[in-house]
Amino acid sequence: MGRVLVIKKIDVAGRAFDFDEMLEIEVEPYKCPYCSEKITKEQLVQCYKKYLKGRILANFNANVDEILVYLNKYRKDYHLNTCLKKAHFITQVATETKFLSSLEEEFYYQSHKITDKFSEEEIYLTPQNINKYKFLKVIDENEYEENKNLQDYSEFSVNAAYIYGYAKKKYEFNLSDDKKIKILIDSHLPDEKVIASRMYYNNFGNQGKKSFDGYRYRGRGLMHLTWKDNYKAFGRAYKDLSFENKNASLIGEENITRDTDRENIEGNYDLLSLPIYAVQSGVWFWAKFRKVSGLRPPEYAEKDRIMDVSYSINGGINGIEIRKKILPLARKAFKVYDHYAKTYEEGDNEQKRMVKKNLELISFDHTEKMKNYSTKVNGDENALEILKQIFSTEKIRK
Ligand SMILES: [Zn+2]
Repeated sequence: MGRVLVIKKIDVAGRAFDFDEMLEIEVEPYKCPYCSEKITKEQLVQCYKKYLKGRILANFNANVDEILVYLNKYRKDYHLNTCLKKAHFITQVATETKFLSSLEEEFYYQSHKITDKFSEEEIYLTPQNINKYKFLKVIDENEYEENKNLQDYSEFSVNAAYIYGYAKKKYEFNLSDDKKIKILIDSHLPDEKVIASRMYYNNFGNQGKKSFDGYRYRGRGLMHLTWKDNYKAFGRAYKDLSFENKNASLIGEENITRDTDRENIEGNYDLLSLPIYAVQSGVWFWAKFRKVSGLRPPEYAEKDRIMDVSYSINGGINGIEIRKKILPLARKAFKVYDHYAKTYEEGDNEQKRMVKKNLELISFDHTEKMKNYSTKVNGDENALEILKQIFSTEKIRK
């Protein structure tokens, strides 16, 4: 690893291609005997154990066997063919899919946490709304008697987040001192369609809030593919990807974005929540979709950098703290420490140099940076052990 070939390309007009396209990096990691081993359920449990409880555990168990069948089928063709790549992939899957429990994004947000998503959206207390939202109660007059007559309170309103968000407790608002009007909002379930449409709109191919594209193209699959443009990119690439059992409904931009029930916002895009297509879209996103600052996620995985891999998957650093906790467990489960030791024993000079470089970074507390983000990473004690062994071997040789 580490040989950098800069291939300069120019288009027909003589302009240089985008920098990301110009930099091609040839990665030739050493392959230890563990690199080609299958990914097992035991390894996933080893990585996710602390989080596998209740509903997450039940959903993990429901998904894991089928996911692994496809993951192991596609592993060799989609850059899950070294200990490091497997460890980093499984680390990313942890946060994207909540430990394999959700193959599609949920919007189970508490009301008070999403008021910023509903800024300037008010629900007025018209008789229709009071009637429609049964959990909304207006209490007025000095005695605070519950109003049964559905009087018109339409001059008053509450932020829409309190209507569409999930409420596990009662919210209480005093709306007017002189009239003594109180609103009680009882516990109720969220309206995920509305919330999703307030999260992802007017960007990356999604239309406005009222289009419900945010719900249509919510995170799905092992890498939680999100936004219409990214779904379309998968649809375009899909025809030529080397999968058995391809689904014709996913081939091409037109098909993958097709609604099957427009009123209920159902369509071909829903297929990505099924284990087989969740894996297909996930490994494509991991291995083929895009380069970020010149490299793809598997190439950052070989450098063992949590920040770079996370950023290139997530486009930000959502869930970075959990990703940082999972990675050392994944290094252990996928035998990365043995892989490092073996590479140092048997690899060529370039490969040895890479091992030392990785270990010198991850063994100690350090800060990793990518674009405008940075994160503090604790030193990995198991990595330090391998590094010490390497140093003592070098001393003896000298
Ligand atoms: Zn290996």
